[in-house]
Amino acid sequence: VSLLLVVICGASGGIGQPLSLLLKQTDLISHLALFDVVNAPGVAADLSHIDTRSTVSGHGKEDMDEAMRDAHTVVIPAGVPRKPGMTRDDLFNINAGIIRDLAEGVAKNCPDAFVLVISNPVNSTVPIVCEVLKQRGVFNPKKIFGISTLDSVRSSRFVYELDNSIDPQTTRVTVIGGHSGVTIVPVISHIPGQRFTKDQLDVLTHRIQYGGDEVVKAKDGAGSATLSMAYAGAHFTKTILEATVAGKTGLVESTFVNLTADADSTAAFRATTLLDYFAQDVEFGREGVSKILPLPALTAYEQVLLDAAISELRVDVTKGATFAIDNPKV
Ligand code: ADP
Repeated sequence: VSLLLVVICGASGGIGQPLSLLLKQTDLISHLALFDVVNAPGVAADLSHIDTRSTVSGHGKEDMDEAMRDAHTVVIPAGVPRKPGMTRDDLFNINAGIIRDLAEGVAKNCPDAFVLVISNPVNSTVPIVCEVLKQRGVFNPKKIFGISTLDSVRSSRFVYELDNSIDPQTTRVTVIGGHSGVTIVPVISHIPGQRFTKDQLDVLTHRIQYGGDEVVKAKDGAGSATLSMAYAGAHFTKTILEATVAGKTGLVESTFVNLTADADSTAAFRATTLLDYFAQDVEFGREGVSKILPLPALTAYEQVLLDAAISELRVDVTKGATFAIDNPKV
């Protein structure tokens, strides 16, 4: 097996640390490069004592190029939290700039890498990565993913709380649309044996769409969902490695992608919705996206959710793409 390098950008953060811990446990990775503007060498030294085969290195502010060189996969949870006095737009612009710079790093150091984006808002940060890679002439839509796995994880768990007869670990819920608020459309109707009332569906849907808020509130100023996000992020990263490195076939997850990754099967959808990005079930292969599966048949209830998701998603995607086009790295 050749040296398989995975880089975590933002590895010292609330998501980055537990994500790095979970990824230290897989033998699919031979080297974990932890990049962050603070504390990366410390986190790397700590993890390097764990008795799995992989090696770990830490890279500070000046060492992004070194961390990313020849990476197979780049996972991005980097960002800054909202501070008092900062508007949502201020926060968006700062984090969008961070993502743009990391995408420039990918273009320069590992243009063939798989890029897995966790930093929110995913509906906008994935278009930023894609636009930067397009500008640099190295865009391959089959290799860029927004990790929306936490929406499926929450769906399985919350459905299980209402119905203990499902196995939450093996019952994967398809979640389509995007990765925030009303753009999250859980396709509950496809879970075998589910017969929820409209009231139950309302509660379930709201809880899945706004699961992040539940955690922010409970943490009471100390942050947002980090551990469950790290769990979901590690799960998705391992799926990508199993498909692309180990050659495992038939793996499917819901993930936020550029639809031109499977241009033929998404042509009609793109033409009617005018959307180039969407979360949907994707089957993975050696090159990343192997197939974007057809949209599942939706109930009337789910179709209403999808219509709301699509209009919101257009705004989010445009915001990201416009940022990247109007603010190239100087
Ligand atoms: P979360 O809870 O979403 O993980 P944090 O603020 O705890 O949020 O973590 C984000 C991490 O991203 C921090 O460790 C921060 O230092 C890091 N970070 C910020 N800017 C950059 C950047 N330009 N490159 C890499 N990492 C960054």
